[in-house]
Amino acid sequence: MTWLPRPLVRPPQDVAGLVDTFGRVGRDLRVSVTDRCNLRCTYCMPAEGLPWLPKPEMLTDEELIRLVGIFVRLGVRQVRLTGGEPLLRRSLAEVVSGIAALEPRPKIAMTTNGVGLDRLAGRLAEAGLDRVNVSLDTVDPEEFRSLTRRDRFGDVERGLKAAEAAGLAPVKVNAVAMRGINDHSVAELLQWCLDRGYELRFIEQMPLDAQHQWDRAAMVTADEIRSRLGERYHLTPLPSEERGSAPAEMFLVDGGPEKVGIIASVSAPFCAACDRVRLTADGQVRNCLFARGEADLRGPMREGATDEDLIDIIRAEMWAKRRGHGIGEPDFEQPTRPMSAIGG
Ligand code: SAM
Ligand code: SF4
Repeated sequence: MTWLPRPLVRPPQDVAGLVDTFGRVGRDLRVSVTDRCNLRCTYCMPAEGLPWLPKPEMLTDEELIRLVGIFVRLGVRQVRLTGGEPLLRRSLAEVVSGIAALEPRPKIAMTTNGVGLDRLAGRLAEAGLDRVNVSLDTVDPEEFRSLTRRDRFGDVERGLKAAEAAGLAPVKVNAVAMRGINDHSVAELLQWCLDRGYELRFIEQMPLDAQHQWDRAAMVTADEIRSRLGERYHLTPLPSEERGSAPAEMFLVDGGPEKVGIIASVSAPFCAACDRVRLTADGQVRNCLFARGEADLRGPMREGATDEDLIDIIRAEMWAKRRGHGIGEPDFEQPTRPMSAIGG
């Protein structure tokens, strides 16, 4: 086989599925359907954008659906479409319906910035999309503009409404708190979400920006977010057994039933319970957001690899998954691909 870039270290034959040497099992596949984006969030991309993948390097719909089918065969039960901005892929509804036709049908979710969702939510729900997370870091249109470098807050607002109307419930909102930019308004964001029935989760900023400017000392920590929210709301932690492998620590807001989540991806990593695996828009499998390497599936597939050949590559990549992301450890290296090209 000419396409194998390095010798594969395979898991033992008697261990099935997407397992690694620490006993974790991959069940949640994140698929980047494009690396392009129509916003320029400062913590993600430079103002001028990035050199986008040339079209011939991107997986076609058929290739993408074939690979997702292989992951489903290997035990994946949830597929999350992401990017870049997934709504920019013209054929997104076809991709969703192709995934929805797989057996067993995985749950299909999407992470989006919400721009254009007002036009697409209905079609995507019909195609089989089950749930959506909309990223929104502030509800102040001016703050939104300076954070995303685009004046599109109204589009996101309409997108959220359309998602709800299309039955993509519960609608979830993801937010990153940035020091000196929106960290003072996290309680306003929560109130805005509570008023509309959206479930909000904050996530700590991670060293995945294309500009490599992340600074741990400047990061707004989960503890800080919790105490800022605590100034306005009474937060009661939900028992961790109700969290499963979900990374967010969940809190009841003022006794519930409304909840808010805080994901301490850097200050309290959840790597030990990680069940994720990733497929990039150009057909590389990654065992972690912070993996230093990835394994090519597109090349072999285009050279005629069988499903069994591809399974061999995927399982070997999972077997090589490291114990944790290692942020803060002396040998930590930020991945060369930024979050938008890996699929967040
Ligand atoms: N464009 C879509 C969006 O913004 O939802 C999907 C891709 S985006 C890379 C996925 C998620 O990653 C978003 O919620 C975004 O806020 C988050 N994100 C991007 N860069 C990040 C960083 N450096 N640290 C933490 N989260 C980040
Ligand atoms: Fe685009 Fe999402 Fe990155 Fe913002 S976070 S620039 S919306 S990919």
